[in-house]
Amino acid sequence: MAGTKTLTIIKPGAVRNEFIGPILAKINANGFHIAALKLIRLTREQAERFYAVHREKQFFENLISFMASGQVVVAILEKENAVADYRRLMGSTDPLKAEEGTIRKMFAENIERNAVHGSDSDENAEIECDFFFARSERFSNFTD
Ligand code: ATP
Ligand code: MG
Repeated sequence: MAGTKTLTIIKPGAVRNEFIGPILAKINANGFHIAALKLIRLTREQAERFYAVHREKQFFENLISFMASGQVVVAILEKENAVADYRRLMGSTDPLKAEEGTIRKMFAENIERNAVHGSDSDENAEIECDFFFARSERFSNFTD
């Protein structure tokens, strides 16, 4: 059975452009419950750990510098089929390929500065939620 939560990050570019409110509004309008939320600044070390799967990619260094360049919003989003539904709402990694009405089409600057992160599997959603939030910081609508 598909899981009910996913982890999103509103990335530094979108925070700098004052898109926190519009992005959270779009998330809520699409049926997601915000179960945990905070505004933080990632250290380079945290960004490197979070994106460790991309360590060998040519864009890794730029991605880490960008993710640590300013504040981010991290949040746990809940709904049935959360991971797949949120990836559909985010749109393609490259905003030039993202569908109309998706978060990345509306708020991303380019493929690197693409406004939001979303977990890519239920397993990674669990790992990423644990990366940022203690149990006492979560307010789930589901009993899991
Ligand atoms: P995310 O993991 O942030 O939700 P994604 O799953 O759509 O995005 P990934 O392939 O996991 O895409 O890439 C992680 C992030 O690395 C992207 O969101 C983007 O910020 C950056 N990235 C990916 N591909 C490129 C690229 N070709 N050039 C620059 N940055 C890239
Ligand atoms: Mg990814």
